[in-house]
Amino acid sequence: MPAGDLYVGGVWEKGTGAEIVSIFPADGSVNRTLTGASVTDGERAIERAKAAQADPSWCNLKPHERARFLYAIADGIEADAARIAHIQSRDTGKTLRETGALAASAAGTFRYFGAVAETMDETLTSQRGDALTMSVHEPLGLVAAITPWNSPIASDAQKVAPALAAGNAVLLKPASWSPLVALELARIVEQAGLPPGLFSVLPGAGREIGNLLVEHPDIAKVSFTGGTDTGRALAVKAAKKLMPVSLELGGKSPTIVFDDAEMDQALAGVMFGIFSSSGQSCIAGSRLFVHRSIFDTFVGRLVAATKRLTIGHPFEPGTQVAPLVHFDHRDAVARDVAMALEDGAEILTGGREPEGSAYEKGAYFMPTILAGAANDARICQREVFGPVLAVLPFEDEDDVIAQANANDYGLACGIWTTDFPKSWRVGRAISAGTVWVNTYKQFSISTPFGGEKDSGVGREKGREGVRAYMAQKGIYVDLTGTPHPWAAETVSGR
Ligand code: NAD
Repeated sequence: MPAGDLYVGGVWEKGTGAEIVSIFPADGSVNRTLTGASVTDGERAIERAKAAQADPSWCNLKPHERARFLYAIADGIEADAARIAHIQSRDTGKTLRETGALAASAAGTFRYFGAVAETMDETLTSQRGDALTMSVHEPLGLVAAITPWNSPIASDAQKVAPALAAGNAVLLKPASWSPLVALELARIVEQAGLPPGLFSVLPGAGREIGNLLVEHPDIAKVSFTGGTDTGRALAVKAAKKLMPVSLELGGKSPTIVFDDAEMDQALAGVMFGIFSSSGQSCIAGSRLFVHRSIFDTFVGRLVAATKRLTIGHPFEPGTQVAPLVHFDHRDAVARDVAMALEDGAEILTGGREPEGSAYEKGAYFMPTILAGAANDARICQREVFGPVLAVLPFEDEDDVIAQANANDYGLACGIWTTDFPKSWRVGRAISAGTVWVNTYKQFSISTPFGGEKDSGVGREKGREGVRAYMAQKGIYVDLTGTPHPWAAETVSGR
């Protein structure tokens, strides 16, 4: 495990804020107890970041030279991928298979944004007067990245890589349930030789260090991933200082199975969409709409296959469903299931902790399928962030579009059909930042990602992802070489 509590602008320090206890949710053992960042620690990180970002050796560095640091960080992550995966599995309870993939994805993200930095072009705009006109981009200065616990190394990389590629300094605040992998990232960044001050990792309480990063006048942008309520409160504070924010928030994503779908493909995709990561995924396909003509058959097969999923220890290679991140979170998921029953849902499978000695000490919860709740019931409207799927029938295309859109969130959608024009019509009609057709939860760093409605503001990833951390500047250069006619005679005294 990383040795320090905080990485304050290039210096490993003990924190002076709230205590953080990272546990291994498979058995409740303590990974590490650390002292998080206080406001004073955060202010010190901001001072170091300001000095480092303003240093000509960074702010005047050419993008292709900045890119070298990103490539070195990518190399460092790849070299230590197994260790990173292990730390993240201890911190979050996710399977090693998954955390290994997240580490590989983080390395790819740094490599991609290094390449973007090297190949970004500025624009010579079309000339409409006697000046050469162009539009260029410059770093914002200090960027704060605030991330959740569910996929830390990947969500950290998604913010840190483009913000550094853009020439900023970055202050990263990970979630308190998963602080360790961000500290490991700091170790790799340090080894990659990034000048001290440009990167800080500040685990700590949201209301303390998180709040400082949002309200501090020297922070030029906050890129936030987390819950909608937190994001909304943060945006209000940001508005007061007119600071731009990117918000990647919650979801209640619909998956839609038409009667012409390829059934085995749809079943596997629906199960992967909701039950992988034990449902702790912003894009989890947690509302399933099945065409009424195949509802009973499809749901019957889905329930049978769900019962066959392997629930187990995160380090067992065969495990499909690992424990939830924390016992408190497991209890919150159980309360949501109880709430669904109050609202008229019935449990088709799961709905409780698994039985058996292997599960006794861990924060396990069974993959759960609920039927019978109306689309406006709380279980179909609110994010559970656990392995809980609500199933509903639909009549036709118009009906499913209306039902899918009758929700405050708009993060993702899955459509299962062999009719391409239908997938196109439905995909375009659903309010969602991402639509998957006959697949689910596939990601590419080159494809912009983000939410609509309560699922967020702004997009991450893609070439434009770097621009989200830059300020745009128009430049006009005179081509006439003569005094402006408005004052030409005055100036010459005629
Ligand atoms: P959360 O909102 O509780 O916390 C997210 C981060 O915000 C944490 O680091 C937390 O410490 C910090 N925070 C809390 N209060 C704060 C405050 N007042 N000021 C500043 N920072 C504060 O979310 P969580 O429980 O860690 O994560 C789960 C949520 O994240 C789910 O809603 C999930 O959908 C969402 N999520 C979204 C995406 C996406 O890309 N859209 C990806 C992953 C997770």
